[in-house]
Amino acid sequence: MPKQLPSHRYLKQFITEVTGDRGLKVATCVGDGATDEKIEQKTGIKIAEVRSILNHLHSFGIVEYLREKNLSNGWFTYTWKLNGDRALQNFILFKKKEQETLRKKLAEEAGVLFYKCRKGCSRLPFEQAMDKQFRCPQCKSLMHHVRPHDELRKLEDRLISLEKITSAENLLMKRD
Ligand SMILES: [Zn+2]
Repeated sequence: MPKQLPSHRYLKQFITEVTGDRGLKVATCVGDGATDEKIEQKTGIKIAEVRSILNHLHSFGIVEYLREKNLSNGWFTYTWKLNGDRALQNFILFKKKEQETLRKKLAEEAGVLFYKCRKGCSRLPFEQAMDKQFRCPQCKSLMHHVRPHDELRKLEDRLISLEKITSAENLLMKRD
């Protein structure tokens, strides 16, 4: 796994978001090339799970494989390796989509007053909450208005952290 920052950190973040800690364990083991069997030995994770994690990582472009036919038994051997550059490109693509959704949400929510029940099972704009006599449609408890400032603040923070990632795109792609 490339050791440069922040690409290394983002790569780790992406792998963890997609496949969790076990995925990170497998991906670290993959490095510049490893077979399913070798990964099983090294990580202690059963081969069936190793394969399913690898397929999942592959669907996100994080790993790639080389398939070779064993001439004596006719079976295929898969040698996996990390594809750091493609993984980072996909990571940035995902973060850009997330950023877009968040931007829209932020624009919608600014200036709108929301009502929420204590348990958090529902959250309605003022008009709809009023129609329900400020009772949660699910748990029937009284709904209170959400201080928009707090919610917006959280959304803004999240957006800022996403922007940090997406604006680092050029930096990430130019690494050696
Ligand atoms: Zn409720």
